[in-house]
Parts: sequence; structure tokens; C-alpha cells
Amino acid sequence: MPIFEYICKKCGQEFEKLVFGNQKVTCTKCNSSDVQKKFSVFGVSGVENPTSSGCSSCSSGSCSSCK
Ligand SMILES: [Zn+2]
Repeated sequence: MPIFEYICKKCGQEFEKLVFGNQKVTCTKCNSSDVQKKFSVFGVSGVENPTSSGCSSCSSGSCSSCK
């Protein structure tokens, strides 16, 4: 089950959401649907959450086995 990180573009709330298929994601704080998924490939500023990056075979979080 995929858990994605989102950031609300309206209030700035960051949250994680379990998403099934094309389920619509709304902010957990203001219930806005104007949210942006945080892709790891967008992590230009580096690691901000050590628990969600990297895998058993690397430490950068960007190899083929990383999620
Ligand atoms: Zn919000």
C-alpha cells in the first residue's frame, strides 16, 4: 500500500496519505484539494526526513530499489 507525502498549497500543511488508485487527496487540516504530492525526485534540497529515504542497498534514496 503506497503512502505518499503531500503538502497543502493552501495552508502549507504537510501530511502523509495512504492512496488507493485515483483516490482524491485532500488536506488533513483545511480539507482543500489543492495539494501537491511530494516526489522524492524533487528533493533538490537534500534529505529532510531520514526515515523515508534510502533503502537497504543505498543511502541516497535514489536507487532503483528505493521507493
Ligand atoms: Zn490545507
